[in-house]
Amino acid sequence: MLYGLLLINSLAVAITHLDDAPSALTISAPSVLFAITFLRMIKWVRESRKGAPDPLEAKRQLRLMTTVAGPVALAYICWALALSPYGGPYEQAHVGLYISTTVIGCIFCLAVLPQAALVVAVTVLPAFLVFCFAKHTLIFITIGINVSLVLAVLLRVLLNSFEHFRSQIRPSEALVTQHQELQRLNDENQALALTDSLTSLPNRRKFYADLDALTAQEDGGSAFAVGVLDLDRFKLVNDTYGHQVGDRLLAALGGRLHAAASPFSRVYRLGGDEFGVIDLGGDKESLGRLLQQVEAPLHVGEITLKVGGSLGIAHYPQAGNTAAELFDRADYALYHAKHVNGGGLCVFTPSLETSVRADQAIEIALQSNTLSDEINVVLQPIVALATGQVQAVEVLARWNSPLLGQVSASDFIPIAERSTAIHSITKAVVKKGLEAARLLPKDVAVSLNISACDLSSAITLAFIQKVIQEAKVDPSRIWIEVTETAVMRDADAAAAALQSFRDIGVRVALDDFGTGYSSLGYLEQLPLDKIKIDRSFVNALEKGRGSAIVQAMITLCQTIGIECIAEGVETARQRDILRDAGCEQAQGYFFNQPLPINDLLVLCPRRFGDISSPDQSEIKEEKVGSQKIETLSPLLLTDQRSRLAG
Ligand code: C2E
Ligand code: CA
Ligand code: CA
Repeated sequence: MLYGLLLINSLAVAITHLDDAPSALTISAPSVLFAITFLRMIKWVRESRKGAPDPLEAKRQLRLMTTVAGPVALAYICWALALSPYGGPYEQAHVGLYISTTVIGCIFCLAVLPQAALVVAVTVLPAFLVFCFAKHTLIFITIGINVSLVLAVLLRVLLNSFEHFRSQIRPSEALVTQHQELQRLNDENQALALTDSLTSLPNRRKFYADLDALTAQEDGGSAFAVGVLDLDRFKLVNDTYGHQVGDRLLAALGGRLHAAASPFSRVYRLGGDEFGVIDLGGDKESLGRLLQQVEAPLHVGEITLKVGGSLGIAHYPQAGNTAAELFDRADYALYHAKHVNGGGLCVFTPSLETSVRADQAIEIALQSNTLSDEINVVLQPIVALATGQVQAVEVLARWNSPLLGQVSASDFIPIAERSTAIHSITKAVVKKGLEAARLLPKDVAVSLNISACDLSSAITLAFIQKVIQEAKVDPSRIWIEVTETAVMRDADAAAAALQSFRDIGVRVALDDFGTGYSSLGYLEQLPLDKIKIDRSFVNALEKGRGSAIVQAMITLCQTIGIECIAEGVETARQRDILRDAGCEQAQGYFFNQPLPINDLLVLCPRRFGDISSPDQSEIKEEKVGSQKIETLSPLLLTDQRSRLAG
């Protein structure tokens, strides 16, 4: 508008002077000026079409305008003054009008740029006053003074309104800066809230957010795998070397996992020693590689650490459609990998969920406050193969859970061993076993199962030994059974614990022999009185080299002077082979099922040694006379001596 106004006003003056002034002033000089002005005008029109410039560009343009304002104003005023002597009084009045109105119009147009307006005023006004006063007429002098006043007032108003504009802009400018700072802090917070500070990996919240995003895709999205990885011996590292080393281990492992992840997978730290993975490639190998990273030794300062890991995997969409479902199922697979497979990688299947749920139901039911009361014991005789006499009874736990009903020992014992529930069970079994011992004949021992966890718990060991000492049962009538795997964890500590039992006169048996590593080293190192050959060997007695293997085991026991008990004898033939091989004692359904103490005492009162000095006629009478008993107990079917004779 400024340049347009300038052009049109100037063009009008040039036209009114065409006849009176030389062409240099009416055509040549104005042509150059008008061309420059026109170009500037076009430039501005174009600029304004582009929309608001960025702040830096705006500043540049405003500076340029202030710089050119002076020269342009000067050029025009010089041209106008040069024209002023030509023509009659009307033409001269036109020049005066032209200068005064144009300068006022231009200054108005420059309201947003007071510096430029001031430059224009300062350039034009003195020249205009000279023009007016040079006319030596009152009218022109008055016009000169009037225009000066108008310009002064105009500039004042302009500066006032600019000051007002500035005072409005300043706070909103500060507001913008504040807002930007807030936004930056917010972004930083957001990033922090989704990052684990120890490992710098994305955290659990981010894991769920990513899972949510992946499962929420409208078209169902493409297949991917979710992994949950848990370290195996992390607690041990923390307890042994302290939390600082534990933290450094986690940070180092986090870095390793991040580096080993495939381009399609992302690793998260879910908390504690648990990591998560989302693998868009969905292949098992790349996840398996992560597990290898965990298993490789790691150096933290001077210490070399080796922690293993377990990894549970769930595939989308087979295992679930939501983040929560997928996580739960990867967690089921992890539970299975850890507790059933003893580590490694496990992929979720529906049947696995069933078994894990059952295990977890047992885990929960085992937390019962009345667990000790829910546990009962049954007794299974161990007989001398040479005489048929019952030498001992193995005390076996039975659990009648108010929540789950009868639960089999092979189901609940391994689960109880993962928590402290096993200690309550052992204590209850030991107490009830010793109560049974008081009811049994003096020459029948009770054999108590002690789990690996009990062996490493000083409190439980002390409790068992106290109960034994207070039980008023001859310690030589008490045997304890420990499995090979139980002593393997820490053979030295186990040897010391077992010796403490022997010191008070208790006998020690190695249970399930042959199922573990069967290292001869243990037989030497551990204070053992007896070995129980696992029932899987007895079961295989009549197959292939089964009898040769059992024979070798029996010979081994004889060589090192340890008694030998065969477990799981179910047939007369097995009993015969074992007896002929020199096995001293046996136990199994062939002789008797595990029974509650009362049933055992009722069913076979005469079986135990010589308590009632049974005479043969009495036994025969009972055998003949008691059909009911016969059907219940194979023990009573035949005279034990005839059994032994086959
Ligand atoms: P185990 O110590 O090897 O106990 C022998 C298991 O074999 C018992 O199973 C018994 O019922 C079974 N059995 C006995 N004779 C035969 C036979 O002729 N054939 C077959 N097939 N099986 C026979 P149960 O009572 O179900 O116990 C299973 C396991 O649970 C036990 O194996 C033991 O490891 C554990 N357990 C049972 N009670 C206790 C306990 O009080 N404490 C601890 N720590 N573990 C226990
Ligand atoms: Ca046993
Ligand atoms: Ca056994």
